[in-house]
Amino acid sequence: MKRILIIGAGFAGMWSALSAARLIHEQDAKDVEICVVAPEPHLHIRPRLYEEHAASMKAPLSEIFREAGVNFIQGTVERIHPDRDALEVVTTDQRRSTIQYDRLVLATGSRLFRPPVQGLAEHAFSVDQIDEAAALEAHIKQLADQPDTPARNTVVIAGGGFTGIETAAEMPARLRAALGSEATVKVIVVERHREIGPDLGAGPRPVIEEALRELGVTVKLGVEVSSIDVNGLTLSDGKRIDTRTVIWTAGVRASSLTEQVPSERDTVGRLHVDRYLRVKGVNRIFATGDVAYAATDNEGNYAMMSCQHAMNLGRSAGHNVAADLLGAEMIPYSQPKYVTCLDLGPWGAVYTEGWDREVKMVGKEAKSLKTKINTEWIYPPTAGSTRAEVFAAADPRRIVVA
Ligand SMILES: Cc1cc2nc3c(=O)[nH]c(=O)nc-3n(C[C@H](O)[C@H](O)[C@H](O)COP(=O)(O)OP(=O)(O)OC[C@H]3O[C@@H](n4cnc5c(N)ncnc54)[C@H](O)[C@@H]3O)c2cc1C
Repeated sequence: MKRILIIGAGFAGMWSALSAARLIHEQDAKDVEICVVAPEPHLHIRPRLYEEHAASMKAPLSEIFREAGVNFIQGTVERIHPDRDALEVVTTDQRRSTIQYDRLVLATGSRLFRPPVQGLAEHAFSVDQIDEAAALEAHIKQLADQPDTPARNTVVIAGGGFTGIETAAEMPARLRAALGSEATVKVIVVERHREIGPDLGAGPRPVIEEALRELGVTVKLGVEVSSIDVNGLTLSDGKRIDTRTVIWTAGVRASSLTEQVPSERDTVGRLHVDRYLRVKGVNRIFATGDVAYAATDNEGNYAMMSCQHAMNLGRSAGHNVAADLLGAEMIPYSQPKYVTCLDLGPWGAVYTEGWDREVKMVGKEAKSLKTKINTEWIYPPTAGSTRAEVFAAADPRRIVVA
């Protein structure tokens, strides 16, 4: 029996597993096992973690994995040994075991990067992982039990990028829901660049500025958070903001398992891969999703660390890893259409197309698209889907743009 091992059950890992299973089924290869290793058999819907009800932002995978013939090992990979085609897993019962593979797909995603800012580890919240977003939600709810002070009523979001903007736009309404509609709430975004959404470009910026203004969100540009304590934070210009709630959103890094694969990595830790998503210079290992630095086209564009890219990177990696093992034809990864849909809370949303992010839709219309993306398009096939439906959805030739 040959084994394809996939580490991670996020967007990229899940679609890799289903796509590999599709090709194996198509080729009627009975001697190949597909195995996913991840801490739990659920897809965490990370793009929704700035919303309320964070703890419920997950979808079960056991049934569709069973339907597709994918095995699941509940555990965390601690070591990869590319020289011996093996990895070490610690399963949920704390047992350590070594598993051999014939091909490996690394799909362990990314994590919020926390720089060594004084007090950040102890006092800042985040919306990066489900447990972290749930902790923020519990904190906001219990603010109502604290004395009515400016610090209680103020939320500061460190980082004015995609996640920071989406989080900030939600916060005035979420604070009022917790503290009462009469409360004087204050939401402040601190962004070290001179513009909000520095990576989003000039196209959607006027829309973002208008939305944040109308929502009553203050934006402080050209300053950084220097230190955080239990009662507030200090900015790089020496000014102080009293707050009980700092949400850190500035920067992400690829999973640290990438460091165990001997290949070139980009500035955020992603492994350089070829057009088939094989890690460059390393035999039998593929990388996908947020751990892959992958060209999306022949025009010099590279995949973003985004769910939009991770889903198709996953489908391609799964197909190609199985094709490589079976001697079937590989399909180069390609994702020529790039869109963004940024949630702007009760104000609406802004939708752009292309790498220049040309605004195509704003306000309520864009919001209903965002709602569709967040509640339907990014979810896995529902439990009860047939094998044929699951495999059709996993076909790498299917173009998914959201
Ligand atoms: C608040 C927020 C908003 C976002 N909004 C958007 C958006 O609007 N649009 C968009 O396209 N993208 C958005 N993103 C980004 C998107 O969520 C990520 O790019 C996407 O989740 C990447 O998918 P992935 O499968 O590579 O990694 P992940 O989804 O992070 O999955 C990684 C998987 O690997 C597992 N894993 C990690 N380490 C190990 C290990 N050692 N052993 C075993 N398993 C392991 C994890 O448990 C998980 O199952 C947002 C992210 C956040 C946090």
